[in-house]
Order: sequence, then C-alpha cells, then structure tokens
Amino acid sequence: MTAEWELDLQKIENNEADVAAFQREIETYAKSITDELLQISITHENLPQIICPKCKSHGLIIRDKIVKCPDEVCNWVQFRNVCGVQISIADIEILLNTSKTSLIKGMKSKAGKKFDAHIVLNEDCTTSFEFAKNKSCKK
Ligand SMILES: [Zn+2]
Repeated sequence: MTAEWELDLQKIENNEADVAAFQREIETYAKSITDELLQISITHENLPQIICPKCKSHGLIIRDKIVKCPDEVCNWVQFRNVCGVQISIADIEILLNTSKTSLIKGMKSKAGKKFDAHIVLNEDCTTSFEFAKNKSCKK
C-alpha cells in the first residue's frame, strides 16, 4: 500500500495522476483501518452490556482497541489505550456508571512523563483526566 502511494506521489509530481483521486484513495484506506479495528474481536466472553452514555439507546461495541456506539449519528467512541495504558472493561463500566474511573496508574504524557489520573466522563460525554494530586476544578 505504502509503496503504491509513493509511486502515486511520484506520478502526481510528474502530473500523471489526479490529486483528488489520490486523496480519495487515502480516505478509503483510512476507513478500512477503522473497519479493521472494529472487526478485531475480544476472545474472552462475558462482555458487559453497556449502554451508550451519549444517545442512551444503543449497546456499546466493545473491542480490544475501542469502545464505540454502533449508531453513526451518535458516534460516541472511547479509545481503550489511553496514554499507553490499556483501560480494562471494568474501568470502562465504572467510568460510564459513575462518570469516573478508578485511579489509572503509569500513563505517559507526550513528553514521556509518567502520571496517574482518573478518566472522567464529562456532561457532553467527552472524556478527560482528573489528576490525583491537584483535583480538577471542573464539575
Ligand atoms: Zn450512542
């Protein structure tokens, strides 16, 4: 795929290919990755039925990498790998039931600094961190 792109890029440079077509190809590829992520299924059973916190009408799809509302309009999604730490299903449940996870330890910031934090569910159903020491002023 990548090699093909490089070839395409070369063609674009030589004005042989349509830039828009190339753009479309990338979009298709990005979509196929998303689909792939959704298809990776968890091997162990007993997945809890968690109702989407946003639309409150669909059961969430739980996968290794993401938890997602199946409704395309709602489109609520939570990545399960947060700053290098895999968020357990139990924590996802706690998050959605109580709007706050237990303290998640050993996450890494972009600068490479380790930190502990709770993940909190905001009123608009986005998630953010609440740090252990200086308590969040939100809410
Ligand atoms: Zn939803």
